[in-house]
Amino acid sequence: MANREELRRRVAACIDNHKEHLVAVGEGIFANPELGYKERETGQLIAEELEAMGLQVEKNLALTGCKATARGREGGPTVGVMGELDAVLCRDHPKAHRETGAAHACGHHIQLGVMLGVASGLVGSGVMKELTGGVSFLAVPAEEYVELGFRSQLRARGEIAFFGGKQEFLKKGHLDDIDIAISTHSSPDLDRHGKKAMIGPIAIGFVGKYVQYRGRPSHAGAAPEKGINALNAAMLGLSGIHAQRETFPDEERIRVHPIITKGGDLVNIVPEDVQLEAYVRGLSIDGIRDANSKVNRALQAGAMAVGAQVKITEIPGYMPVVNTPDLSVLFKENLLPFLQDSEIVEGGEFAGSTDFGDISQIMPTLLAVFGGVSGALHTKDFHLEDPELAYIIPAKAIAFTIIDLLLDGASKAQQITRDFQPKMSKEEYFKFQDEMSQEIQWQYE
Ligand SMILES: [Zn+2]
Ligand SMILES: [Zn+2]
Repeated sequence: MANREELRRRVAACIDNHKEHLVAVGEGIFANPELGYKERETGQLIAEELEAMGLQVEKNLALTGCKATARGREGGPTVGVMGELDAVLCRDHPKAHRETGAAHACGHHIQLGVMLGVASGLVGSGVMKELTGGVSFLAVPAEEYVELGFRSQLRARGEIAFFGGKQEFLKKGHLDDIDIAISTHSSPDLDRHGKKAMIGPIAIGFVGKYVQYRGRPSHAGAAPEKGINALNAAMLGLSGIHAQRETFPDEERIRVHPIITKGGDLVNIVPEDVQLEAYVRGLSIDGIRDANSKVNRALQAGAMAVGAQVKITEIPGYMPVVNTPDLSVLFKENLLPFLQDSEIVEGGEFAGSTDFGDISQIMPTLLAVFGGVSGALHTKDFHLEDPELAYIIPAKAIAFTIIDLLLDGASKAQQITRDFQPKMSKEEYFKFQDEMSQEIQWQYE
């Protein structure tokens, strides 16, 4: 039986042999950005790359997106390596799409190159024969929570159930056979602090809502007493939310940030139709749920005070990212051949929210963040600086980690899946998402 060191050597050599190609594929995607649920060409390109390695690819899994599985010996768990297909909107980025304004200013093209690097290392070297279980390569659509109007239409037509691609993969069962999930992300912030990688960060989650207050119009000068002022209801609702803030526990990191999107129609008419949007963010599901119920209570109180109606439409957002410490420890060991201990951040916090959080609630996950890029995420300045750090080191470290997980009858992967305590089961997850898809109507009698 081949030993660990020999397998690592074979995998690293294979990734090194394909180095130029992997970076060229990633940077080719950088030059051809597509927005979420529209990543047809990117999805097709990834599928062709996986097919060229001799893998069978399932395509267009959630409008776009694909999956291929390399199998080792029978009987072990399957590790899923994910790459996100979508770009973000950033019209002034030098590589922005001229018509759509899409640009890969979040570095998802790099994730795809890393995923292909892991695939070429494990598949091309033939080491899967020495491992037990499988490795799935998943190109997943729509991580960025954008173009809500377009996605609402897709949802109304029954083409998607969720705005996030990983949520949709969960819903459609494409992750049913995945036991451990691994994903990467780029960060321009690490280099500024002399760091190169961050392992197992946490991230806050959120739910969204549209709010519509309905009052009764009336001449604002001649007969205000005949009207019901929906703007007053909304302002009382917002004040009510502010009055909840001291009840949000510090450790839950609750953020509630509403905006008024419609404040009335004409200045001389008592406002009849007033609309708001809000996010409720937090570090745990319980924290978000608690804050969300207080926010809804406050919004209803505004309507009650003036005798208006309120309709609250909940929108499922992304779950908080939780970390699986066993996987972080293992990944760090496999990063140390490439990076100094002092260059690695353990834990930390990932900026923003991601649908990888949804996966992390349900199964053991590893989120690894790498430098090698500069500028700032989602801005025109984001670009590749160091291909070795951005693409090649992550690919090798992930492939090495998978060797450790699946070697010796996959004993390490079995231990991690056995010890893992999910924050919620898949059933509980979908129940929570149902709860966050409801409409609440309230009317003063
Ligand atoms: Zn982003
Ligand atoms: Zn991103």
